Amino acid sequence: MLGCVVPSFGWYPEDWTRLQNCAGIWAGVWLTVTPTEHGLSFLDGEYAALVRFRLRVPLQPEGGPCRRGGTRGSARWRRWYDPEGDHAHSCARNSGTWTRRHGHLRDQLKTMLRWLGFWAEAEQADSRLPHRPDVRAQGFTLPLTHFEVHVSHPQRSHMEAAQDRRGSSNCAFVEEAWRRRLDRHYAGGPPPNAPFQLIPAVVCSYGGWHPEFAQWWRGAVRAAAERAGPTASPQGMLWRSVGFLSVTLQRQNFQVLAGCAPTLEHQVQGRLGRPLSEVPEFWRAAPEAAVLWGGEELGYPPSPRGDALEPVGPDSDLLHSAAGHVRAAGMWL
Ligand SMILES: [Zn+2]
Repeated sequence: MLGCVVPSFGWYPEDWTRLQNCAGIWAGVWLTVTPTEHGLSFLDGEYAALVRFRLRVPLQPEGGPCRRGGTRGSARWRRWYDPEGDHAHSCARNSGTWTRRHGHLRDQLKTMLRWLGFWAEAEQADSRLPHRPDVRAQGFTLPLTHFEVHVSHPQRSHMEAAQDRRGSSNCAFVEEAWRRRLDRHYAGGPPPNAPFQLIPAVVCSYGGWHPEFAQWWRGAVRAAAERAGPTASPQGMLWRSVGFLSVTLQRQNFQVLAGCAPTLEHQVQGRLGRPLSEVPEFWRAAPEAAVLWGGEELGYPPSPRGDALEPVGPDSDLLHSAAGHVRAAGMWL
């Protein structure tokens, strides 16, 4: 299939890798999660920039020099903020925002594990592991489990062979990132009979999680829902917890993108932390199909967009999902 796509549309292997990662496990959750809580909500500027980043639509029409500067000479190209913002994921001077993204995700993971009823602490060393994992969790029904949090961006500058490998499935990239992390920090990983688990909380910057993490999380939510009794909704608990992780990652991705490009930061300055007394951003910015789907599948309240929303049937509305994404990115159709 790749062989057909590349020549007819003029795509490159790195575009295919990006598409596969956009289709990763739970990669689209942040687009459709209902913003019933602050931690599940975006600001307009964040949402528009992140949709643009996902679609690879320019964030800055011409690009521009990285606002963090850099050395001249051979490394000069590194100082250029490309229109699509990939620079921000490899600029050495932007590493502070990557570290903060990692820290926020680690803390959110700890919070969600506690919300599910487990004991969880960050940065607990285990003498049986050569590297200190990010989160340690335990519970009555949960054996000792360590999590390593790792966010990785599929760099476009890698050679074609690496791109083909990373684009071979929707989780090939995160699986490769985890293998690399295991080799580098965990001596290849704990033995199969270890009395604990080491789970890869590994996620792509486009939002797709490692399949092992997703499988573990589904099981943990099921167990928590069973403990909570017949009134608990496993589906609701899954969406809330994955939604928090997904939105945390994307809001921090915005900070990474903005780290080198001053204009993005100005879009949301002074508005971070705004209470949700206004109509949440989702209802104004999300694709109609997402709003419709949320209403049908999860019983969200009807869209407060009111009369401004054109009356369309369910069938035609689903066809508009792509158009909705493009409109959310701030483009005319
Ligand atoms: Zn930079």
